[in-house]
Amino acid sequence: MSKIVVIGAGHGLPDPGACGIVQEYKVVLQLAQLVEEVLKRHGVKTVMLRTGERSLSGAADLKQNKREDLERRVAISNQSSADFHLELHMNAGGGTGYETLCYSENEQIRTLHNSVMQYLRPFNIRDRGIKIRTDVRVLQVKVKVALLECLFVDHPSDAAYMKDSAFLSGLSEAIGRGVLAAIGVAYVPAKQPTTTTQKEEPKMKQADAEKVIAYLQAAWKEAKNADEQKEIGRLADEVRVVAGMRKVNG
Ligand SMILES: [Zn+2]
Repeated sequence: MSKIVVIGAGHGLPDPGACGIVQEYKVVLQLAQLVEEVLKRHGVKTVMLRTGERSLSGAADLKQNKREDLERRVAISNQSSADFHLELHMNAGGGTGYETLCYSENEQIRTLHNSVMQYLRPFNIRDRGIKIRTDVRVLQVKVKVALLECLFVDHPSDAAYMKDSAFLSGLSEAIGRGVLAAIGVAYVPAKQPTTTTQKEEPKMKQADAEKVIAYLQAAWKEAKNADEQKEIGRLADEVRVVAGMRKVNG
């Protein structure tokens, strides 16, 4: 049976979440969609709590809207019988870096946190650690859950990273890999597009090819008929191709 993962892109209009240089609700939706692709690539079913800009509540009052949205998210998660619930958020308030929030720390949470930090560390992004937060409503769902605070909306370099689509795509792979490890699915890296700019090394040295061609030319002179000459010419061209040289017999 295929595994199921609930993906919650935090907030949704009228609640934009944290607002700074970037807006939380927009960036986390983009990230959620990228993580969904990674999980689907591995045959994992996903339950997306938000696929558009708006929250799950239609209430006009902001407070009521936020409360209803949150309760609907929790209800969907609880009914999903998912293997994992991933909440994607961004931090705010003048800090910098990444942290994982959870209801209780365990091996799966550590695996996920480490996978994300392994990606972020080369960018010199601060590891704020794993934080136990039993008071966060969405962390009170029945399924295993982690809330990822992916950098700060109001920190210049954090925000710049989160605006960069290549960075986001790498981050989504790291999150996906961590979630897959947490639910026991082997991670397979995405296929890299084949680079056409990279020139392949010739399989034979040009000097060696010229020696072989010299032998073939001697044989060509000894050839009994035009068919034999044609065949020798073809072989010489085969040698030229292997050595990265230009064909001369058409
Ligand atoms: Zn948030």
